[in-house]
Amino acid sequence: MLTHILGFPGIGKQRELKQALESFWSGRLSAQALSETCAALKKRHWEIQRNAGLDYVTTGDFSLYDRMLDTTLMLGAIPPRFAPCLAGSPLELYFSLARGDAGRDINALEMTKWFDTNYHYLVPEIDAKGLWTGSTPPVVEDTRQARELGFSPKPALIGPFTWLALAKSQGGALKWARLDEIAAAYARLMVKLSAHCDCIQIEEPVLCTELLPREAVKRFEGIYAVLNSACGDAKLMLTTYFGPLARNADLASASGCAVLHVDLARGGGQLESVLSSLPGDVALSLGLVDGRNIWKTEYAQAVPLIRKAVSALGQERVLLASSCSLLHCPVDLDGESSLPEHIKKRLAFAVQKCAELRDLRGIVEDGDAKALAENAAALKEAATHPDMRIASVRRRVSSVTPAMLARRSDYPARRIAQAWLRLPPLPTTTIGSFPQTDSIRKTRLAYKSGEMSEAEYTAAIRNEIKDCIEKQEELGLDVLVHGEAERNDMVEYFGQQLGGFCFTRNGWVQSYGSRCVKPPVIYGDVYRKATMTVDWIRYAQSLTSKPVKGMLTGPVTILCWSFVRDDLERSEVCKQIALAIRDETLDLEKAGVRVIQIDEAALREGMPLTAAEAEIYLRWAVEAFRLASSGVEDGTQIHTHMCYSEFNAILPWIARMDADVLSIESSRSGMELLDAFAEFRYPRGVGPGVYDIHSPRIPATEEMERLLRRALLHIPREQLWVNPDCGLKTRRWEEAWPALRNMVAAAERVRGLA
Ligand code: GLN
Ligand code: ZN
Repeated sequence: MLTHILGFPGIGKQRELKQALESFWSGRLSAQALSETCAALKKRHWEIQRNAGLDYVTTGDFSLYDRMLDTTLMLGAIPPRFAPCLAGSPLELYFSLARGDAGRDINALEMTKWFDTNYHYLVPEIDAKGLWTGSTPPVVEDTRQARELGFSPKPALIGPFTWLALAKSQGGALKWARLDEIAAAYARLMVKLSAHCDCIQIEEPVLCTELLPREAVKRFEGIYAVLNSACGDAKLMLTTYFGPLARNADLASASGCAVLHVDLARGGGQLESVLSSLPGDVALSLGLVDGRNIWKTEYAQAVPLIRKAVSALGQERVLLASSCSLLHCPVDLDGESSLPEHIKKRLAFAVQKCAELRDLRGIVEDGDAKALAENAAALKEAATHPDMRIASVRRRVSSVTPAMLARRSDYPARRIAQAWLRLPPLPTTTIGSFPQTDSIRKTRLAYKSGEMSEAEYTAAIRNEIKDCIEKQEELGLDVLVHGEAERNDMVEYFGQQLGGFCFTRNGWVQSYGSRCVKPPVIYGDVYRKATMTVDWIRYAQSLTSKPVKGMLTGPVTILCWSFVRDDLERSEVCKQIALAIRDETLDLEKAGVRVIQIDEAALREGMPLTAAEAEIYLRWAVEAFRLASSGVEDGTQIHTHMCYSEFNAILPWIARMDADVLSIESSRSGMELLDAFAEFRYPRGVGPGVYDIHSPRIPATEEMERLLRRALLHIPREQLWVNPDCGLKTRRWEEAWPALRNMVAAAERVRGLA
C-alpha cells in the first residue's frame, strides 16, 4: 500500500515562514532571502515525509500566503481594482491581493474561513470585467525541484469546482459561466505537472458540502474528462475531505480519476458505501490519520478499516493517508517538554502523524504486532487519568435546567431596564482589545519568565488600563473597554485559568498568511478555579463614570479554537466551558460591571458542512451561549461579537442567542450583511463594523458616515451601534487613534449633533 499525506504545515517548526514574511514586509529581508527560506522549508518537509517512509512527498501544499490565492493568480482572476499593481513585480501584486495596498488605497481580497476550520483563505472575486491572464504557479517548479532532489513528488492543487464554489461574483458576473475557461487553465497546468510526477492530487472538498449548484454538478463529469486527458501518464487523485461524500458519491465515481481519496476521520461511516460504488480499476486512498486534531490515531480502530478495503480491492488499490492536509495541526511533538506525560502519550503532531501511516502499513502488511500493542497501551493509560472525569463537573452539567438558558425578561423589558446606562443614539464602542504595544508585550513576557513580580505586573497592567481608559475618554467613546493588555490571546487567556486545559510550547497552527495560533488543549473536564477577569475590569470601571464593558470569550469560541479531547461529545465539553463562563459573568455583574461582552468569533466556523449536522450543532452552540450569558439581571447589558464569516444564513440562530447587542464584521464586504439584517429584521442592538481593523488604512470620517447612513436604511436608529469590525490589538496607536477619532466624528454627524 502506498502512503502519503495531503499536505504538511508550511509555517515551519519555529515559525520560520512567519518571521521571513514579516521581515520581508518591513523591508528587512530581500525577496531572494525570502525565497531561500521557503526553499529550505519545503525541502525539510519533503525530507520529513520521506524519512517517515511515505511513498510520496507533497508539493503545492506550501504557499507564501494562501493556496486559494495561488490558484487565483494561476487563473489570473485579478479584480480590476488591482490594475495599478500589475506594473510592479509579481511578488508585489501577490501581497497586494493578500494584504491590500495602503499607498494606493486598494482593499485586499476578502478573507474568510476555509470550510469549518480556523484557517482563513482569500476569497476569489469573479468580475464580469476581470483581467484573466494566468501565470504558471509555483507548484510546477516545486515539483520539478522535488523530483530533481530525488523525491517522488505528488503535486496538490485546489480543484476548479472548489475554487469556483468559494469565489464570489461581483457586478453581476455569472461565475459558473467561466468554468470552461478555468478548466482549460487547469488542463495546461496538468500538462506541465505530469512531466514531473506520476500522481496529481486535485482537491475538491466542496464535494463534501452542499455548496455545488445543479449547473456545476451537471458539468462535473465533462470537466474532469478534460482534466484527466491532460494528465498524460500521471494519475489524478480526486481528493475529498472534511466529511463524507454523501450525495456527491456518484459524482466522484463518475469523475474518471484513477484514485479517489476519502476522509475517514470525519466520514468514517462511508467506507462501506464507497467500496461498493468504486469503479472497477479505481484505487482508494483512505484518510485515516486525522489531519485536524492532535490525538494519536487509534490503530485498533483504523486497522479493521484498512483490512476491509484491502479485502475488497487488494493491496495495490489501497493507499493510506492523512484525512486532510496536516496544515491544521502543529508541526512536531518533539521538544514539547512541559506537557504532562499522560497527555503527551496521547498526542501526535504532523511529524508523528507521518510515522503513524508507516505503522499502519506495517501492521497490515507485515503483521507488526508491537506497534499495535504500544499504541493501545499508551491510549488506555492516558484515558484513565483522574482529570478525565471529575464527578462534580459531570453533576453540574447534568443538572442544568431550562430556566438557566433564558434571561429573566424578554428584550423589550430588558431595554427599559438598561436605560440607566444613558447611552446616546448610535452609541460608540470598540470590540475589546487595544494596540498591544511593545511595552505591553514586554510586561507580559517579563512576568511569564519570572523577571517581574506579581505586584509589579499588576501595577504595570493597571497602568496600561488607565492609559487606555483615558484615551477612550478623550476620544469620546460611549462604552469603554479595559483594552485586554493582560491577554496574549482571547482563548489562551481563559484556558490558562481553567481546569482541564494544557498548553504546548510550540504547537503553532497557521491561521492566515503569517499569522499563527497556538490552540490550547482541552484534555480533561473543564472547571473554573477562581475569577479570571474581574479584578482588571473592576479596576477599569473604577476609573470612569462611563460604562466599561467586561470582556469574555464565549464557550463555543473557546471550544472551536482549542484542540478538543476526542473521548467526550463536543457539546458536553462546551457545556462545561459555558458553566465556567456563566460563573464569571455573574461575578463581573456582582463587581459592578453591567455591560458584558461574550465574544463568539468562532460560532460560524464550528458549523458542520451539511445542513442536518449544522442544525444539531447550532442548537447546542446557541444553548451554550445562553447558558453562559443568561444568569444576569435585566439591567445588565449582554453583548456578543462575531467576525469574518458568512453569517447571513444563520441570522435566526444568532438572534436566538438573545444578546442585547451584537457587533459584527461587515466593512470588508461593503456592508452586504445589512441586506440580510433588513430582511431578517434583527430584533435587538446591532453594530455592523464600520472599518476594517486588519488593514493599516485609516478610514475617513465621510467614508464611515456613508456606511452608517447606509446602515440606517436597514437598521432602525434606536438599534444601531457604531464600532470597528473587530479588536484593535494588531494595530498601532498611530492607526487606531485617528481611525477611532474619525469613527466618533462620523457617529456624531449621523446623530445630527455636528
Ligand atoms: N474581544 C476580542 C478583541 O477585541 C475579540 C477578538 C475577535 O473577535 N477575534 O480582541
Ligand atoms: Zn472579531
